[in-house]
Amino acid sequence: MKLNENPEQTRRFLEDTSNIRTGHTPGVYLPENTAEVRAVVREAAERNRRLTISGNGTGTTGGRIPFGDYVIAMEKLDHIGDVRPEGKDCASITVGAGALLDDIQNKVQDAGWLYPPDPTEKLCFIGSTIANNSSGARTFKYGPTRHYINRLEVVLATGELLDIRRGECRADSQGNITIDRPGHEPLSIAIPRYTMPSTSKHNAGYYSAPGMDLIDLFIGSEGTLGIITEAELRLIPLPEQIVSFLVYFDDIGNLFRFLDRARKRPGNLDPRALEMFEKNALDFLSNVYPDIPRNAAGAVFLEQEATAATEDGLLDEWFGLMEACHAMTEDSWVALDAGEQRKMKEFRHELPVQVNEWLSRQQESKISTDMAVPEEGFTELFRFYRDRCEHHGFHYIIFGHAGNGHVHLNILPENHQQFLEAKELYITLVRKALELGGTLSAEHGIGKLKAGYMPEMFGREGMMEMVRVKKALDPGLMLNTGNLIAPEFFESD
Ligand SMILES: Cc1cc2nc3c(=O)[nH]c(=O)nc-3n(C[C@H](O)[C@H](O)[C@H](O)COP(=O)(O)OP(=O)(O)OC[C@H]3O[C@@H](n4cnc5c(N)ncnc54)[C@H](O)[C@@H]3O)c2cc1C
Repeated sequence: MKLNENPEQTRRFLEDTSNIRTGHTPGVYLPENTAEVRAVVREAAERNRRLTISGNGTGTTGGRIPFGDYVIAMEKLDHIGDVRPEGKDCASITVGAGALLDDIQNKVQDAGWLYPPDPTEKLCFIGSTIANNSSGARTFKYGPTRHYINRLEVVLATGELLDIRRGECRADSQGNITIDRPGHEPLSIAIPRYTMPSTSKHNAGYYSAPGMDLIDLFIGSEGTLGIITEAELRLIPLPEQIVSFLVYFDDIGNLFRFLDRARKRPGNLDPRALEMFEKNALDFLSNVYPDIPRNAAGAVFLEQEATAATEDGLLDEWFGLMEACHAMTEDSWVALDAGEQRKMKEFRHELPVQVNEWLSRQQESKISTDMAVPEEGFTELFRFYRDRCEHHGFHYIIFGHAGNGHVHLNILPENHQQFLEAKELYITLVRKALELGGTLSAEHGIGKLKAGYMPEMFGREGMMEMVRVKKALDPGLMLNTGNLIAPEFFESD
């Protein structure tokens, strides 16, 4: 199998969207199937090489960027099987780790099914979304990737192959998971002893819960415990219709009241996406969408599934809630058909485009947060973000998955002094989110960029719990070392 050592050809594996520019590698392996992945891993073990696993490079945290390690790229494991209906309400599909999420979603949809996880960026590989437990707008109703994985094929750092079907291997009452390994002694791992935050999204560190399934240890482990080569995904029926709304408010308090009530799903209302843009984010968008009302303090984007029989009633209920919360109903936008919904999607996707355009005219990169808090802490975190940024005189925007208590704050420094100030502020923001019972990362993961902040959330003890799990499965620290756990925790073990 190919090991590409040509620096010109392997340069593309040295970056993702994190702005880390210092990655380097002696070479990139491009295996074509699981057997070749195992061969690469065995060779690496023999030669004492470390491997960094590469997806499609849309990650935001430097997870796939190597610092002297060899790269193992998953792009050739891109097979997509056929949809297998398993009754009226359920189907499944088997896919290679390097299959594009967009291709999978299109194939599934053409067959009348839905794969709910929907990170905004569709050009990612399915294996990476599993390694990162990715989520997106629809997570408000459907939960993260974890909920849709029936089976995983994983290559361990020893080259052994695990085939893990959900429900077949769980932690016992003592908190131990025993992995049967053909031809080897069974391996017993104590699951990490820490409590997960009560946020509805969480993607920082290894999963831990009483009686947890082995498959959940690998989902969200950011490639530090094994290489995912194949997965069976759970599909649900495609909804008959979708109604999308963009609802403006001239008062942020009214916007929060609307969010609070919508989160509780009153009457027949059942939003599948519940997101927000605050004023500065709308200002960015008004370059391209001049019709955005100038007095809007913010907007909520939401999606509701419907049928021909329920659509009118649901529209009435949503308009009732908007009136009750003093929304700018006259100025708001309702998309009932696929064409209008596509335009609304373009509106949402225009924000990163406008931000990147603005950044391209500056010398500095943005500082962005991915923390989430339990719903009751959301407005406090939002106000804290806004007040701190105003205090520092930063250019900033806030937008994202407000239904899940999870918005992204992007600070856009205008000079290096502001960049340094924003970096310093970041730790204060992390501490505030944690004080409110939140998580360091709701969806983008930790990678290398945020590994240094993990002790803020888990303390030294929690970090050592993760080190123990990592070493049980990867004693030579071969896979994605540097992601999630900062190197000093291995040295001090
Ligand atoms: C504009 C934009 C919007 C985004 N929106 C969202 C969003 O809404 N929700 C969300 O969750 N994320 C979002 N992301 C983040 C990103 O798209 C996801 O993290 C995605 O899962 C990365 O996929 P990738 O194939 O590009 O992975 P890469 O960046 O190549 O790798 C990501 C990580 O996964 C590991 N990995 C890759 N393949 C495997 C494998 N087979 N086995 C084990 N580990 C592996 C890598 O080592 C690395 O640590 C967004 C990114 C961008 C740029």
